Amino acid sequence: MDPNPIELIFLGTGTSHGVPMIGCHCPVCRSDDPRDRRNRASAAVRAADGWVILIDAPPELRLAAVACGLERVDAICFTHAHADHIMGLDDVRRFNDISGATIDCYSDAGTRRRLREVFGYAEVSYEAAPTYRPSLRFGLIDSPRAICGLEVIPVPLLHGNQPVLGFRIGNMAYCTDCSEIPPASWDLLRGLELLVLDALRHTPHPTHFNLAGALEVVGRLRPGRTLLTHITHELGHRATSESLPENVALAFDGLRLAVGP
Ligand SMILES: [Zn+2]
Ligand SMILES: [Zn+2]
Ligand SMILES: [Zn+2]
Repeated sequence: MDPNPIELIFLGTGTSHGVPMIGCHCPVCRSDDPRDRRNRASAAVRAADGWVILIDAPPELRLAAVACGLERVDAICFTHAHADHIMGLDDVRRFNDISGATIDCYSDAGTRRRLREVFGYAEVSYEAAPTYRPSLRFGLIDSPRAICGLEVIPVPLLHGNQPVLGFRIGNMAYCTDCSEIPPASWDLLRGLELLVLDALRHTPHPTHFNLAGALEVVGRLRPGRTLLTHITHELGHRATSESLPENVALAFDGLRLAVGP
């Protein structure tokens, strides 16, 4: 597999409501710190040769892509089919037009079923797709596979009692929307240089790690660095950052970093 570093770009780091939340006047929703403005959660992974894997397609995908200068998507890995992770998928037709190719989508079988219910109109080859439709191919990822020249390892996680996927690519793992790591998945997350992990808020939640739960996971896995995502307005960027241990930080929209092979 690719021996070069990858680039990780955070397109969104917010919970399903986004931050600011509609009709909320709390200090974080009214903050003028740009790191307190959070699109729904998504990231892009750029391989050294320029190929890009998108992780999830949230409602602000177009705005986030424009803001981050993301001009290419070659494949999409879906963690699960909640609305905040799939409802921007129609926007990828622009990437179809730029590359002139169908985009491969990878998910578990349950997510593929939901994607076909909502976006079945897009399961068409690029040559046959009118310009107002994306061109997508819905595949499965139930074991490690090569995508865009990178080895992508699906990491089964639990989001409440719903099975979802995290993804490990090289020494980076992206684990959003989870509240439990099943026993068999811990070994898939050993030796990470970077862990991206759900940390919704301080208050416990039935389907997401809260900050204390996320820090427990960090204590067990001891990755080189951890960036927290899928964040509500309970966690103001500056105040929360000051309280975090060394090597743990809140991610923010637009953050990009290189991760070694
Ligand atoms: Zn979510
Ligand atoms: Zn608020
Ligand atoms: Zn979810």
